[in-house]
Amino acid sequence: MARDYAADILDPLARDVVNNVGVWVEKEVRPNASEFEHADAFPEPLLKGMSDMGLFGIKIPEQYGGLDLTFECYAGVCMELARGWMSLAGIINTHVLVGYAINEYGTAEQKQYYLPKLVEPEMRCALSITEPDAGSDAQAIKTTARRDGDDYIINGQKMWVTNGHRAGVYLVMTKTDPAAQPRHKGITAFLVPHDTPGFVKGKKFDKLGYKGVETTELSFEDARVPASAVLGGSEGSGFQHIMSALEVGRINVAARGVGVAQAAFDDAIRYAQKREAFGKPIFEHQAQQLRLAEMATKIRAARLLTFDAARKKDAGERSDLDAGMAKLFSTEIAQEVVLDSMRIHGGVAYGKELPLERYYRDAPLMIIAEGTSDIQKIVIARSLVRDYPV
Ligand SMILES: Cc1cc2nc3c(=O)[nH]c(=O)nc-3n(C[C@H](O)[C@H](O)[C@H](O)COP(=O)(O)OP(=O)(O)OC[C@H]3O[C@@H](n4cnc5c(N)ncnc54)[C@H](O)[C@@H]3O)c2cc1C
Repeated sequence: MARDYAADILDPLARDVVNNVGVWVEKEVRPNASEFEHADAFPEPLLKGMSDMGLFGIKIPEQYGGLDLTFECYAGVCMELARGWMSLAGIINTHVLVGYAINEYGTAEQKQYYLPKLVEPEMRCALSITEPDAGSDAQAIKTTARRDGDDYIINGQKMWVTNGHRAGVYLVMTKTDPAAQPRHKGITAFLVPHDTPGFVKGKKFDKLGYKGVETTELSFEDARVPASAVLGGSEGSGFQHIMSALEVGRINVAARGVGVAQAAFDDAIRYAQKREAFGKPIFEHQAQQLRLAEMATKIRAARLLTFDAARKKDAGERSDLDAGMAKLFSTEIAQEVVLDSMRIHGGVAYGKELPLERYYRDAPLMIIAEGTSDIQKIVIARSLVRDYPV
C-alpha cells in the first residue's frame, strides 16, 4: 500500500486536499523537478498546476474568492510540495505570508483591492525585509520612507528578495522614524506595486540551490507611493505586522524541512532494500536499520511539531514559540536526514543523476532563511521565560 503522507492531519477536508496535492506532486513534479532545477528555469507549468488547485488562495477568505483553508492544511500542502521540489513551497511562501498580513492588518480598501487578485495567478507577492547591513537584526534596516504631502518617498537597498522579479506587490519594511526608540516603533510596512516609479529590480542571485525561483536585489530611488500604501493605514506598526506574518513563514519553512527530509528518507529506504553488500540487501545490515529508524523518528517528530504550530495558529493563539520550535527542529533534521540518505546511497549519492544532490543543496537554505536557527533559539528562549516569572 502507498504511504499516506496526510495521515497525521486531523481535519478530513484538509487530508483530502493534501492527498490531492500529493497525487499531483507524484505525477507532475517529481518527474520534472530535476530538469527545471538544473536549468534554473521558472517552473511556469507547475505554477499553473498549483494555481488550478487554488493553492495561491489557500489562506484567503472565501468572500475574496480564496479557499480559506486551515494552517494545518497549508502545512500539509507545503510538506507535499517540498517532497516534490522545495522551490515550489518557497514560491508560495511569501505570497501566502503577504496575503495573511493584508487580511489580518490591511485596511478595508487594501483587502478589497489585493485579496481577490492574490487568488489569481497573475499577482504574486514578495516580502522585502533584508538589506546589505541588516538580516537577523531586522530593526537595523536603513531603508527610509519620508512623508511628502499625501505620499511617501522610499529610499534604500534590499537584498535576498524571493519572487523579486515576478511579484506584482511587495511588502516592504521601512523606517518612517529612524530615530525612534525602541527601534521597532519607527518601522512601517508598505504595499509597493511592482511598477512604482523609482522602484528598481536588481540582479538575481546565483544560488547553491532553491533554483527556479528568483531571489534578487531591489532598490528604491525616490520611489513615490501614496499614503494609502501603508499596511493598515498608520505608521509604526510595520515590525509587529511583519513578525506576526513571519510565524506563517516559519510554518512554511518547517513544512519544507519535513518534505525534503521525507523525500530523502523515501529514496533511502527503497534503495537500502535493493542494493546488496556482503551477500544481502544493505537494509539487512543492522547499522543501516538503526540509521533509517533514527531518520524516520526525526521526520515524524518534525511533522508533528509543524502540525502543532499550525494548529496553534488556527486556534488564533500566539505561536511564535511553536513555529520557532518547528522551524528549528524540522530544518536541522532535514540537513541530517539528507546526509544520512547520502550515506545509505554510498557513491551514487555523489552523482548528479539522483534528486538527492538537490536535497543536499536545498537543505541549508532552510536553516538560514526566515530567521536562522540561532534566531529561532532566541525566540524560543524569550518565549519560554515568560512562563517562569521569578
Ligand atoms: C535564498 C534566500 C532567500 C531569501 N528570501 C528572503 C526574502 O524573500 N525576503 C527577505 O527579506 N529576506 C530573505 N532572505 C534573507 C534571510 O532571511 C536572511 O539571510 C536571514 O534572516 C539571515 O540574515 P543574514 O543573512 O543577514 O545573516 P546575519 O544576520 O548576518 O547572521 C549571520 C550569522 O550570525 C548569527 N547571528 C545573528 N544575530 C545573532 C544573535 N543575536 N545571536 C546569535 N547569533 C546571531 C546568525 O544566526 C548567523 O549564523 C533570503 C535569504 C536567502 C539565502
